[in-house]
Amino acid sequence: MCRDFLTDSPLYDITKFTTLDFPQNLASIFWFCRCNMRCPYCYNTPIVFGEGVISIQSALDFLATRQNRLTGVVLSGGECTLYPHLKKLCQEIKKLGFKIKIDTNGTNTTLIKELIQENLIDYIALDYKAPKQRFEEITKNKNFNDFMDTLIYLIRADFTFEVRTTVHSSLLNEDDINLIIDDLSSLGYKGVYHLQNYLHVEDTVGKTEQQKKEIDISKLKEKIPLNFREF
Ligand code: SF4
Repeated sequence: MCRDFLTDSPLYDITKFTTLDFPQNLASIFWFCRCNMRCPYCYNTPIVFGEGVISIQSALDFLATRQNRLTGVVLSGGECTLYPHLKKLCQEIKKLGFKIKIDTNGTNTTLIKELIQENLIDYIALDYKAPKQRFEEITKNKNFNDFMDTLIYLIRADFTFEVRTTVHSSLLNEDDINLIIDDLSSLGYKGVYHLQNYLHVEDTVGKTEQQKKEIDISKLKEKIPLNFREF
């Protein structure tokens, strides 16, 4: 195995154990530094702006000690698909016998397709940040079309994935969410759409303030199954 790959340190942290983040799996979470978005509500500022401190070798060594205790690994961040050797890392994790979930904003369509076509990942949580006309304003990223390509690919491939949106009522209102619901419905998304209520923390990327009110979930269309987290 390439020595540079093993000594690479793209990880900010490892959560050793979670029962919540990977459906049907006891998992660890690898937190990748760097992101190509700047969502105002993001509370992972040390991860988005920080440097990696944990090497691939250390992460794989850790997983080797968990082979009979955990079943999955979540690759999160930051945006894990920015890591140039993610495919190689997935291959090594698979050799150790773990299932892999990735948390992604969906902008690296090419890599996500490769990971799926080579059976290197088992589940995706895909962030649908905002409807097209609000996407750049919310994320500071212009690549809505790449995100959309990923979404359409996942639906057509019938891959197991979930779509989710973080909701801060000063950033997205009921009409914005309904545009996303319309879109998911018309594209034939079969899963549950998860709406994650913003929970205030200090020091978010955009220094967001406490929500003055929550969105009115009774105004949301019921075209697809909705799940509300922290509302
Ligand atoms: S919330 Fe936005 S800025 Fe934060 S890691 Fe996710 S995509 Fe990046």
